[in-house]
Amino acid sequence: MQQLVRPDIATLSAYKAESLADITATEIDKIDANEVSSDLPDWFKSQLGTIASDQIKANRYPDGEYAHLKQLIANYVGHGITSSQISIGCGSDEIIRSLLVVACLHRGSIMVAEPTFSMYDILARSLGIPVVKVPRHDQNFQIDLAAAQAAIEQHHVAAIGLVHPNSPTGNLLNSAELDWVRSLPSNILVVIDEAYFEFASHTLAAELDQHPNWLIMRTFSKAFRLAAYRVGYAFAANELIEALEKVRLPYNLPTIAHTAAELAMDNRDRLLELVPEIRQERDRLYRELSNLGLRVWPSAGNFLYARGQDNKAIAQALKQKGTLIRQTGGGLRITVGTRSQNQRLIERMGDCLNSL
Ligand SMILES: *Cc1c(COP(=O)(O)O)cnc(C)c1O
Repeated sequence: MQQLVRPDIATLSAYKAESLADITATEIDKIDANEVSSDLPDWFKSQLGTIASDQIKANRYPDGEYAHLKQLIANYVGHGITSSQISIGCGSDEIIRSLLVVACLHRGSIMVAEPTFSMYDILARSLGIPVVKVPRHDQNFQIDLAAAQAAIEQHHVAAIGLVHPNSPTGNLLNSAELDWVRSLPSNILVVIDEAYFEFASHTLAAELDQHPNWLIMRTFSKAFRLAAYRVGYAFAANELIEALEKVRLPYNLPTIAHTAAELAMDNRDRLLELVPEIRQERDRLYRELSNLGLRVWPSAGNFLYARGQDNKAIAQALKQKGTLIRQTGGGLRITVGTRSQNQRLIERMGDCLNSL
């Protein structure tokens, strides 16, 4: 294989989600991937099933324009965004890859502030695009803006990936960071990843028309509970969206996936009813985990970031008890689950911390 494959590809490893195979506990609380823990309601699934059997012609290619879905998303986003300013991806992961092709390939690097969402790094490296990493401050995870500014001057930075609120740390961009983002030169693509928008209720959409180099990305995988269907979207100035459309695969989404996203938009108030409950549980978990002696940070997402004495040992011990969380970035990222999952987490965490 060595001669067939680019040498830099040979050094990469394939993305693997956490395996459940070696856990002995019978019931597993999977709160490691920031999914919403409850499945879609039955009425939604049966409506989708009916559409699939009555309306989808399986022998036909999908409608690759997604005109109706884009119109629904434009209405949902508001802020004067029109459907020609929207691109649909097979998950926002696909959009990240397209952005890297459009803005960085043969042109420059992408900059990220660690710890952050790993797909920027993984996808850039698969394309041979250099990744410039800058640190965050330890207390509040604000980006080290001096380091970021210096990196821009030294490394041909063509794009910056900003997750808002950041995963795994949960913080929104603060006013110093926002001022810096607003001051970035117009030849740098600024990707603002709002995957957790529905939990955070903060968006930079209102400023998009003043910044043709900004792009905002969101997903149906989190608050809308459609992770299995793989639908993400981006909105930006027409010029950027047209470029994205040129590099995406013609039929990038199965018909059932964009149909599910349309149905989610049509029923968004009912689907998003869970959001206030998840926020409440997040705030309860924050208090409970802090009381156990962990250092926990405030979060605007559906997850919390915490650090203990030995994060690896904590994650492993919890896994053996049947709760799967994510050890990342020198800490623990814990997705807010159902009330009973959260209750078990608190109990099991208490046991783990006592016995370590
Ligand atoms: C979950 C998540 C996404 C969503 O990815 P999809 O490919 O749409 O499932 C994007 N960005 C961040 C930061 C995320 O946490």
